[in-house]
Amino acid sequence: VPTLRLDRLLGNMGYGSRKEIALLARRGGIVLDGAPLPDADRRIAVSADLATRMTVAGEPLDPPPGLVILMHKPLGVTCSHKEAGPLVYGLLPARWRRREPAISTVGRLDKETSGLLLLTDDGGYLHRVISPKRHVPKRYVARLARPLRGDEGAVFAAGTLLLEGEEKPLMPAVLEPLADGQAALTVTEGRYHQVRRMFAAVGNHVEALHRDRLGGLALPADLAPGEFRVLGEGEAAQVF
Ligand code: URA
Repeated sequence: VPTLRLDRLLGNMGYGSRKEIALLARRGGIVLDGAPLPDADRRIAVSADLATRMTVAGEPLDPPPGLVILMHKPLGVTCSHKEAGPLVYGLLPARWRRREPAISTVGRLDKETSGLLLLTDDGGYLHRVISPKRHVPKRYVARLARPLRGDEGAVFAAGTLLLEGEEKPLMPAVLEPLADGQAALTVTEGRYHQVRRMFAAVGNHVEALHRDRLGGLALPADLAPGEFRVLGEGEAAQVF
């Protein structure tokens, strides 16, 4: 378990400047295991359970560094730190947007795609999930403009489909036709607009796209668009 000075830990978590945190500590506003911590230069063991043991100004501490968030991404928000317009980060509490290391999305969903999105401040976890070597399966539900022809499942499963402008064929993907003009497609890569381009390559058009699974994680039915929850360590590992 890493240790950090209290002022450094809370400063990195967006609670304020070193001075502000020192003042808050001095006034008894930072409590660990029921006892005030008056000295902000004291080193603290940054364990995963710290949020259940520490309060800051009477509120439970935010999740300490190493957090993984599962969000139900709504339509119309962008997975980017830079672009203009509504961003997924705008759905997080303001203090969480000031954290160092910053919270980033684990891969991306298009602005007009909804569904399961992970966010984390843990670079190692991020890279393990998006690594092309791991082939973490991603399941998308698409609403299609036209009925399926019948051969799409075989085309996607073959592992030979070439997207326009690309030289490397796609890895095999699994198609499941669903009711009401919908189909689920499970892919293990993350190429630009991949699912939309795959259906375009078989003469169809995606009218709506939603991700409902990432590896062993499913989007919880009780998580409304725009809502999120912080995953426990065991849950975050279910993606693999
Ligand atoms: N494929 C797409 O086309 N869009 C997404 O957002 C994800 C996969």
